[in-house]
Amino acid sequence: MHFPDSSTMTPPLNPDIAAAQLLIQNVSKVYYGRQTWVDKLLKQTSQDFVAIADINLQIASNTFVSIIGPSGCGKSTLLNIIAGLLRPSTGSIILNGEPIKGPGPDRGVVFQNYALMPWMNVAENLRFAIETVYPNMPLVQQKSIVHEYIDLVGLSGAEHKHPHELSGGMKQRVGIARALAINPEILLMDEPFGALDALTRGFLQDEVARIWEQQRKTVILITHSIEEALLLSDQIVMMTRGPAAKIAEVLNIPFPRPRKREELDQYSHYHELKAALEQHLSRETRAVEEARIRRK
Ligand code: ADP
Ligand code: MG
Repeated sequence: MHFPDSSTMTPPLNPDIAAAQLLIQNVSKVYYGRQTWVDKLLKQTSQDFVAIADINLQIASNTFVSIIGPSGCGKSTLLNIIAGLLRPSTGSIILNGEPIKGPGPDRGVVFQNYALMPWMNVAENLRFAIETVYPNMPLVQQKSIVHEYIDLVGLSGAEHKHPHELSGGMKQRVGIARALAINPEILLMDEPFGALDALTRGFLQDEVARIWEQQRKTVILITHSIEEALLLSDQIVMMTRGPAAKIAEVLNIPFPRPRKREELDQYSHYHELKAALEQHLSRETRAVEEARIRRK
């Protein structure tokens, strides 16, 4: 994939960009340090922190994109900017030709910690999200959508359970159903399986793959897992370490679909792609560790 710089980003001239559903243009994020009373006492200025710098990325409709990078590099920062939960310090994000100015029903978000309403049961959690986005939708229709998405994620029978009665895997099924029930154009997932045990993670990855085959929505998934990224993605975006993290490379994953976990290592280029991802992650993570040791 080729990333033109901003001076060449004139949409009508570049068919790739014209076809992009989501355009991330020169996005940077600086977290401004606040001066604490200790800083003032010691007459030191607080430090601003450049998390991500000059990120350019184009994402086409119906593509499954994973973002992989060392811990703390700015993956969540980027995803939250796309979600509209954070404002970029520079640059812009264009969705279907319109700049993103805040959160919207065109983007559904799945969080690692589920973020369910603890006092609402499964069905109520979904209906609440639907009602918030579509306040004028008749109740019968809302309930029918709730039913449809509970069924889609395999939770039929658990509609009336509250979050404390659910396993981690079931909670994340609710999180996925809730994000999809508002019918977003793009599903954003921030390490959705990070808190789950390996077996449950595998089940949920298979569920996401199955749902993606059915719906083919654009997905942006942040993950630590190379296997997960290879199993699910059309493209894998590798980020460098921070500060001022950038995109190192975008890998196209040409495996056929539907994919089978147990046949993954037989697809052509699997071993090269896996090795490239492993090398990148271990190099960047090692550099982060070395920098941390030097600071001590
Ligand atoms: P990742 O998701 O890749 O682990 P994050 O996007 O959460 O990384 O964070 C990127 C960097 O920005 C980290 O060094 C983190 O400490 C810093 N950071 C994140 N949020 C804030 C914030 N609100 N204020 C200051 N620094 C932050
Ligand atoms: Mg994160």
